Amino acid sequence: MKQLKVIQGDITQFQGDAIVNAANTTLMGGGGVDGAIHRAAGPALYAACEKFHGCPTGEARITSGFNLPAKYIIHTPGPIWRGGYSGEPQLLANSYQNSLRLADRYGCQTVAFPSISTGVYAYPLGKAAAIAVQTIQKFMVKARNIREVTMVCFDTKTFQAYQDQVEHRLP
Ligand code: ADP
Repeated sequence: MKQLKVIQGDITQFQGDAIVNAANTTLMGGGGVDGAIHRAAGPALYAACEKFHGCPTGEARITSGFNLPAKYIIHTPGPIWRGGYSGEPQLLANSYQNSLRLADRYGCQTVAFPSISTGVYAYPLGKAAAIAVQTIQKFMVKARNIREVTMVCFDTKTFQAYQDQVEHRLP
């Protein structure tokens, strides 16, 4: 049975096949979850990311997990919130979908996401959670390898928003 779980915690400690990084388009590290992942994975991650020469918003790139317990890190720049009329919903959905595609193609069974774009990028939490849950659930129907996706929420407010969406949508 395929599952979407919501937990509160630190994504760098996730024990599974892949974690997703809410990166920026340079892929060269930053604050928030991106900084935490780079610190925990070690400097080899920086060297691996350099080779991509950036990544457009909504696309995704995969690296090894280096010093993390996860085998892979999937890097995706989510959209910066600019009021909602600059294609943000589609770009956010693309980030989730392209990350899941890569994970599935690499044979991952378990994948963890942070709450993409709702930190420094200021995407409204409820709206972002709705798109994330919808996109993940739709993808899981056709996934070949992925059997469990975990939303790893850093704070209580974020945890509550994703939990509300999942309860809302599942029978
Ligand atoms: P963005 O630039 O995409 O908004 P941020 O890193 O600023 O990315 O925030 C995205 C989310 O990640 C926020 O909810 C933030 O609290 C959360 N976050 C920060 N550190 C971690 C971590 N170690 N594990 C999981 N989530 C984290």
